[in-house]
Formats: sequence, structure tokens, C-alpha cells
Amino acid sequence: MTGVTPAHDEPLIRNDETMRYRPLGKTGYMVSALAIGCMRLKDDPELNEKLISRAVDLGINYFETTRYYLGGTCQHRTAPGLKEKTAGVIVSGKERIGPDQTAYLFRKEIERQLDILGLDHFKFFQVGWFRWKMMEHLLKRGGVLDAIRRAQDEGLLKFVGFTGHDTPENFIRCIETGIFDCITVPYNMLNRTYEPVIKRAGELGVGVIAMCPVAGGLLGYPSQAIREAVAMDLPTPALALRFVLSNPDVSAACSGMNTLEMLEENVSTVREFDPEEATFAQICEGVDKLREKLGDQFCTACRYCADCPEGLEIWRLMEIWKNWKVFGLEEWARQALEGLSEEKQPARCSACGECEEKCPNDLPIRERLEELKALA
Ligand code: SF4
Ligand code: SF4
Repeated sequence: MTGVTPAHDEPLIRNDETMRYRPLGKTGYMVSALAIGCMRLKDDPELNEKLISRAVDLGINYFETTRYYLGGTCQHRTAPGLKEKTAGVIVSGKERIGPDQTAYLFRKEIERQLDILGLDHFKFFQVGWFRWKMMEHLLKRGGVLDAIRRAQDEGLLKFVGFTGHDTPENFIRCIETGIFDCITVPYNMLNRTYEPVIKRAGELGVGVIAMCPVAGGLLGYPSQAIREAVAMDLPTPALALRFVLSNPDVSAACSGMNTLEMLEENVSTVREFDPEEATFAQICEGVDKLREKLGDQFCTACRYCADCPEGLEIWRLMEIWKNWKVFGLEEWARQALEGLSEEKQPARCSACGECEEKCPNDLPIRERLEELKALA
């Protein structure tokens, strides 16, 4: 890291009565274990202001934003609640990378997002929509890294991270470059794809912000199966947060909250959860037991079955089946089926069996569709 204006070295706020804190990698920051992803704020300025302001009072000191969310209004919805409270919080910004991105345009975007948020610098800025293939656009002369280093020299931003979608192997290669102070990856009980990346980040002292801790709301639905598996008698969203935070390499769980009730509930879940009381290994053991029910008969979404003569999106239906039968999310599954159009309903299956011949995982697709029909 290059030089940073000393005025930017103020510590982050804390409220130890209501929040827990964790190191954000090697940045020196102690970040709140619960962060707010501002991409779900409603179109309700009064509520947003109250929500963000209350979050800071409760000790939340990380807010994830970018100009691109919510049709360009995400940062406008976030800023009013942070008025006069920005000194002790991280409000991250994010800009895309690609072949046409230049240091000049990236810098302009940093300035634009600072302006909208009413900040004089970013404590943390992310290269968004990143993957290993983009590294050449980051490193090229006059590219994104030039803009980042210059902005750091000028005190316009302090730490840098990335977020995006790629294979775990490629994300590990990205963090092993040593360029990034922190990463943001999706991580929850249902999606543990990036667990090896999180582990490597922990070894390298790279901070980890886990997004989608409640799987985009899916783990907001009740599941007796999950409760029993992890041996904790708690609502599913609380279990979901506990799972993420039991991983010692996660710095913060970043959840897209948009009501005061949700905020207060999540804050108290985080406050009450002492990671010592249920270790990551113990919780994983429970979640693994659920997964084991599937054996090797899980849908990998390879889509070899894409040309179903009835036009069914079989991989979507297999996902619904799995979340119902394996993770016990029956109410969610019923609603997911209700949300499908008439043409995509499992009842349209003519049981021709073509998909089963193509499926590399030998899934009993027709049998599972029959079960889904009964649920719909
Ligand atoms: S068995 Fe059903 S789902 Fe499979 S290809 Fe035939 S119609 Fe489509
Ligand atoms: S072929 Fe099998 S594994 Fe591949 S998407 Fe279809 S159901 Fe899933």
C-alpha cells in the first residue's frame, strides 16, 4: 500500500454492547461482524435514513454500495442516513472492470461515487465484476491498478478489494497476487463454493466480506431439518448468520436489510452468538449431514437436459426439489413453484425420459418432478 493522508486514519466506531467486531484482514480495521449491503434499500427515503442511522448507532460500521445498484440510486438512498457519521464507518464503493476500462475512467467513477455519498475518501473500494481473466485490464499501463495506486497516493482511497464470479481456483490466484486487501464473495449454508477461497484469504491476511449470508432470503424461510442438523433451536435466518460467522476467516456477514425489524433481529443474533459456543467444524458437520442425503445425486446445473421437449427448466426444478427435500425449505419451495409460469410447471412433464438419458449424474428427474407436482 502506498501513502495515505494521516487524517484518514481515524478508528472505526464501535458499540460493544450491541455488536461484535472482527479484524478486516491486515487492514488494521475492526469491522462489525454484521454489515449492510445497501442494494436492497427500498424507495423510501425516510425509512432508509432511519435504518442506516440506527445501524451506525447499533455499531455497524460497514456499508456496501455502488452507484450501479437500484437503477443508479443505491448510494443516493444510503447517503442521508450517514450524514455526519461517515468518519467512523466504511462505505465501500465499486466500479466495473473490462477491456475498455481505463485509469482515467476508473478515477472519474471513484470521484463520482465519493460525490454522491458525500465522502472525502473511500476507506475501501472494490473492483467489481472481477475475475482472473480481467487481470490484464487491471495491470495494463494506464489501467485500473494505476488509477487505484494514484488515488491511494492522494488519499482518495485507502484499501482495495474485488468482488465478482469465477472459479474458486481463479479467485485464489487473484488473492495470491497480493494486490487485494479484502474480497467480497457469496457464502452461506446452501452455497459453500468459495469456502476454499475464504480459507486461503484467512491464511494470507486478506479480509473476507461474506455476501448473501441468508441466500438472498431463501434462508429466511423456516426449516426444521436445518435446526435439527445443527442442533440449535433458532429461526433459520439466525442459523444462517451463525453458520457464516462461525467461519473464523470471515470478517463480516453482509446482509441486504431493508426494515428496522430485520436490522434489530440480525444485530441481536450477531450479538448473542459467541463463536466459541459452536465451532465452525461442529456447524459444518450438521450441514454436511444434510448434504449427504443427496450422495452424488445432485444437480450440477450442467444443462445437458436443456432441450426438454416440454420446455421445462429442469435444473431450476432440481434446485427447488433439493432445497425442499434436503434443506427442509418447504414453504420456500412451494412459493418458488408458484412463481413459475404455467409452461414451466413440473406438471407439464410428459415423462418421456429424454432428460434422464442425458443427465451425467443419473438423477431420477421424473421421480423428483412427480414429488414437486404434489407440492405445487
Ligand atoms: S421427462 Fe419430463 S422433464 Fe424430462 S425431458 Fe421429458 S418432459 Fe422434459
Ligand atoms: S442434466 Fe442433470 S445435472 Fe445437468 S442440469 Fe440437467 S438435471 Fe442437472
